[in-house]
Amino acid sequence: MDSELTRAWLLNAALLVEREKDRLTQLDLAIGDGDHGVNMQRGFSAVAATLAEPPAGDVTAGQLLVSAGTTLVSTVGGASGPLFGSSFRALGKALEAAGEADDDGRALADGLIAARDSIQRMGAAQPGDKTMYDVYEVATEAFGRAVRSGAGPKASARAAAEAAEEGVRATESMQARRGRASYLGLRSVGHQDPGAASAALIFRALATAME
Ligand code: ADP
Ligand code: MG
Ligand code: MG
Repeated sequence: MDSELTRAWLLNAALLVEREKDRLTQLDLAIGDGDHGVNMQRGFSAVAATLAEPPAGDVTAGQLLVSAGTTLVSTVGGASGPLFGSSFRALGKALEAAGEADDDGRALADGLIAARDSIQRMGAAQPGDKTMYDVYEVATEAFGRAVRSGAGPKASARAAAEAAEEGVRATESMQARRGRASYLGLRSVGHQDPGAASAALIFRALATAME
């Protein structure tokens, strides 16, 4: 994971969020308050804007991700902002700590686990609670499994993106137990979770950046 790839990932995520903004909002209108698309678009366009400015000097992938996470925390808002923001910060810090070149994707696999864990620490969601965590769980697992099997980062990112798509679909039959959607109880069943849908866009953006 180098800074060029990180930049491409974040810019792809901003493009996908922009393109899918209305769908994310529709999902949140069904089981939340209808602001998720706008929240995500505000955050990722702010991240894209910071990337448009040339860096002062050499910047690492980890530094870019920490700073993107900080931007997301302060701009996305809602419940999802601190969760997505902290996940990018955790990933960036893990990559900084790993330090060395990461050609086989193992540092990224560990970093994605750190990102997933930070979401769980902050939001206390369990698997099956119908949140973004459900996507992070299956996607990081798929990425790690592919990397350990020697698939390499590109194929592993594709596997993670596919698992993420399945993870979003799986939230449809779940009853929400965290966030606003949990107020609906059983009426939350039958709808995909908006934050999970955004998480899948983030994994798709990573796979696209690696193509
Ligand atoms: P808000 O609900 O404050 O309007 P958003 O609409 O931006 O915030 O985000 C809602 C999404 O946040 C949900 O679809 C869910 O995926 C995620 N979410 C909410 N609470 C939690 C939590 N405790 N843990 C994990 N994810 C959560
Ligand atoms: Mg909302
Ligand atoms: Mg809201």
